[in-house]
Amino acid sequence: SEWPHSGNVEFKNLSIKYGTGLDYALKNLNVAIRPGEKIGIVGRTGAGKSTLAKAIFRLLHENIEGSIETDGHDTATFGVGDFCPKLGIIPQEATMFSGTVRRNLDPLQEDIKCGINKRLSENDSRFSSGQQQLFSLCHLLMRKRKVLVLDEATADVDLETDRKMQELIRSEFSNCTVITIAHRLDTIMKSDRIIVMEKGEIAEIGPPQEL
Ligand code: ATP
Ligand code: MG
Repeated sequence: SEWPHSGNVEFKNLSIKYGTGLDYALKNLNVAIRPGEKIGIVGRTGAGKSTLAKAIFRLLHENIEGSIETDGHDTATFGVGDFCPKLGIIPQEATMFSGTVRRNLDPLQEDIKCGINKRLSENDSRFSSGQQQLFSLCHLLMRKRKVLVLDEATADVDLETDRKMQELIRSEFSNCTVITIAHRLDTIMKSDRIIVMEKGEIAEIGPPQEL
């Protein structure tokens, strides 16, 4: 059957440096995320949150020690081409695709309806960054993935819109593993567990009411 089947994600002694002479951006991370679990990640600027997000997607080619496994398979043993289409990500620097509104919402669907074929360019200035984040979420909603990583995907929308987006994510991706990185505590308060990161390490981990 289709991989990833269950959507568990396990970090085993994961350490990452951006250069041989540099400090660790992630230091000996050990955590097992259960299938379908909703994980919130918080921490100060530079704590390593985006590094973790990028590592899951193998977007880093730096000094990596340890491993990331999903469904018991080391992700390093997959080709990026086999792997990335199976997962969903909204990176911290979410951008619009150039092309049409339609392509931004659904790059696979071909049938035409008016309005939706309006031309866009990358980082189209007609849209606010919050609106671009809404596009990114719509895009994700149309392509159901077993594992999702949202890196400050709602950072630029207002509180009320953020609540609606989180609500939508919880209902639409109830069976999926969702890792949500946020600065706003409100964004992740309904997570099953929250990871507090500090200087590349896990400072705390547990249900929101226990932190
Ligand atoms: P923020 O909340 O600001 O998004 P973050 O928790 O996502 O911060 P990371 O982007 O993961 O932080 O950065 C973690 C550490 O790695 C920081 O010390 C940062 O300077 C370093 N770092 C990140 N990207 C690079 C890079 N491309 N080259 C060198 N160092 C980097
Ligand atoms: Mg970041």
